[in-house]
Amino acid sequence: EDPIVEVTDAKVTFDGGDTYVLDDVSLDIERDEVLGIVGESGSGKSMFASALLDSIPDPGVLSGEILYHAEDGRTIDVLEQSDEELRQFRWEEISMVFQGAMSSFNPTMKVGTHFKETLKAHDANVDEGMEFARELLEDLYLEPERVLDSYSHELSGGMQQRALIALSLVLEPEVLVMDEPTAALDLLMQRSILMLLNDLQKTYDLTLAFITHDLPLITALADRMSIIYAFQFVEVGTRDQIIADAGHPYTRALLNATPNLDAPLSEMQPIEGEGPAPVNVPEGCSFHPRCPLATEECVSDDPPLENIDEDHQTACHHWEQAREEITLNYGEST
Ligand code: SF4
Ligand code: MG
Repeated sequence: EDPIVEVTDAKVTFDGGDTYVLDDVSLDIERDEVLGIVGESGSGKSMFASALLDSIPDPGVLSGEILYHAEDGRTIDVLEQSDEELRQFRWEEISMVFQGAMSSFNPTMKVGTHFKETLKAHDANVDEGMEFARELLEDLYLEPERVLDSYSHELSGGMQQRALIALSLVLEPEVLVMDEPTAALDLLMQRSILMLLNDLQKTYDLTLAFITHDLPLITALADRMSIIYAFQFVEVGTRDQIIADAGHPYTRALLNATPNLDAPLSEMQPIEGEGPAPVNVPEGCSFHPRCPLATEECVSDDPPLENIDEDHQTACHHWEQAREEITLNYGEST
């Protein structure tokens, strides 16, 4: 194992500590892996993404430790960086792509200008940088000259999102964090961008952290997956461990909500109820109000994330029972 990012007890609080939106989460991201981080909207997954870059929106307060291990052997303590150090770190080491390219591009600036400004702001060689930008755009099946010479509104949603991915890679970061980068696009475009990311990841030895509510989407790409519920990771494992052998009732419900990758959307069965709001997280296991296996123990004791197999952790008192009694129909062929 060779972690590139080590997150230990990351916590984000609002209101002076009464409300939290990330609850003491710990997770390693391995160098050159594709990590899928899956959760419903409002589960804390975007907070986790922002935490990696110490960019939690005000007035949130982030504590814990986030270590980044650079290629050259340096270890960077992310939460101890100065503003200037962070500014460099955010493009050159860990870069981030958000949902909605529309709002990421300045509508009054050509796409090419965004690339140049980004290179200048990081004292990079603009000619060399633009050369690399063209290469990246081509890797993403875009016509470099046309895209660079356009305003973002002149491009389709899928083209904008690909241009944004190219921009996020122009300073050659090691890690790319993507928060629902394809959620605004149609299914076909989502899948094709995922394939492109798969190629880019290999070409440039990238580490990808892909954050999504769409579990089947990410199973096509991920080496490992972590499932977040109510501001905590409830399960972490390899793709195959999660798909075939999940121990957490929530993971199993998510899998069953989406019978297989090719199923029509109409066949998906959303799981009952909603994740809790930050002010309203249940005592004990926070999933107990929605869990078919909940017992007294679940109501009173919060289960820790523990090893159930090698490299596979689950936070559930009854994971063995879950495996036996919650039958998976995920992946059954049509
Ligand atoms: Fe369900 Fe209990 Fe496991 Fe929580 S700890 S997921 S309530 S069985
Ligand atoms: Mg979110």
